[in-house]
Amino acid sequence: MIYLDNAATTRTAPGVVEAMLPYFSEHYGNAGSIYGLGSKSKSALNKARETIAGTLGAQANEIYFTAGGTESDNWALKAVYESCCSKGRHIITSKVEHHAVLHTCEYLEERGAQITYLDVTQDGLISLEQLKKAIRPDTILISIMYANNEIGTIEPIEEIGEVAREHGILFHTDGVQAYGHLPIAVDKLHIDLFSASGHKFNGPKGVGFLYVNRKTTLCSFIHGGQQERGRRAGTENVPGIVGIAAAAKQAALRMEERAATERRMRDYLIARIKERIPGAQLTGHKSMRLPGHASFCFEGIEGESALIMLDMQGICASGGSACTTGNPGPSHVLQAAGIPEKLARGALRFSLSEENTLEELDVVVEELSGIVEKLRGI
Ligand code: PLP
Repeated sequence: MIYLDNAATTRTAPGVVEAMLPYFSEHYGNAGSIYGLGSKSKSALNKARETIAGTLGAQANEIYFTAGGTESDNWALKAVYESCCSKGRHIITSKVEHHAVLHTCEYLEERGAQITYLDVTQDGLISLEQLKKAIRPDTILISIMYANNEIGTIEPIEEIGEVAREHGILFHTDGVQAYGHLPIAVDKLHIDLFSASGHKFNGPKGVGFLYVNRKTTLCSFIHGGQQERGRRAGTENVPGIVGIAAAAKQAALRMEERAATERRMRDYLIARIKERIPGAQLTGHKSMRLPGHASFCFEGIEGESALIMLDMQGICASGGSACTTGNPGPSHVLQAAGIPEKLARGALRFSLSEENTLEELDVVVEELSGIVEKLRGI
């Protein structure tokens, strides 16, 4: 098997599984219990919170564990709206956000929020000028993703943060594709809320976190017990939290080295596809893109058919976003980037990890070239 779908999910690293295992059947105490077994779990939680905070230049009490990126995004948007709607009801986001943000925005619109969806360029970048123009006296939140899951484009986060700070508006970024892959310092980037998910950087699935700047008051998302300082109730997923922290630590230790390897392979794959397959169009930004991310539109084919044929050759890739698989319409991201529907139907995404090899990529290019030719002939 050749796995090129790391933007959908990653393999849980062996060291991460090892770190998690004792917390299933050995140190299984409830972190809320006062006896020794419980306090072992409690101290693992505290340590995990410190580790994650350290990777962002944040404080431990600014990290809240959640069940993943979708929950973190939902919490950030809904809670800011609920906490601030007496001051204003206007939120600015972009047309290329993940559905965890876009569908939450639609939900808030039904409850009186007014949302501005910023356009993007063909490369997938928002315009800072358009952002500034969209700001109103009643704007309470700017939510722009750090890096796009379908086309890999990295948004100008520091500049967006500066605009938000200058206007006294809260800034949330969906960092699910970026965290663990790019260096992130929340203070320097003026980020007030940051969402991340464990399974995108070799951690376990079903666990994530929301960073909330200590000066930001945010209402609870899940009501119940006093877990997560009363803001996110429910018995803590201790093995998952230990796992996400172990993955974050590993990612931070080897980030530069890993990103350099992935970038080299990504650029090789992009160049080989362009030279071997006529009519292959790279989507997303040429340089401001995630290290392991290569996405294309192939003229004259259906991406889904190509994916099935790639799978028959043992190659795992994606049509754009794993979350929209089965959705017959063209991708909202490609549409926003102005890619004609016919071309957008031939979208494929290859997201690499440092475990891939150049030899694997050669195999993928050869197979893909044959598949595209065959499909174009039908
Ligand atoms: N945001 C982005 C940009 C994503 O790519 C994803 C997952 O693909 C999510 C949010 C949702 O994360 P999770 O799968 O942890 O709910």
